[in-house]
Amino acid sequence: MVCPFDGSDTRVYNSRPSKKYPEVWRRRECKQCGSVWTTREYIDLSTSHRVLTRHKRLQAFSRDKLLLSIIEALKHREQALQEAIELTDTIIKNLLRLSEATIPSYAIKSETIIVLERFDTTAARVYESLHASSL
Ligand SMILES: [Zn+2]
Repeated sequence: MVCPFDGSDTRVYNSRPSKKYPEVWRRRECKQCGSVWTTREYIDLSTSHRVLTRHKRLQAFSRDKLLLSIIEALKHREQALQEAIELTDTIIKNLLRLSEATIPSYAIKSETIIVLERFDTTAARVYESLHASSL
């Protein structure tokens, strides 16, 4: 990976595989300007998994779309972004247990509600109301 600021070569000086999720966290440093930042490596689900929508259309699985819907449901919370990232990891981990390359959208929604319910019932109700028409 090149430096986001000057395009120079970089090095990884700390790397931690997650014990809970299929992902890796890395600290990187630019060899030229000395900038330091964090990267997280995830499975690219858009190339391995598809979503079957309620209109029977197939779409590439989008981690970002799931994350944004959870941020929306957590708007009332102070740490919404960080919490949404962790909840998204949990939901994806649970969905991957199904071992299906094509996941119906209702399965994603019901898994999301189960996870949100355990975390914050208000968030679960907000998510349900935002996705009521598609359940
Ligand atoms: Zn740099």
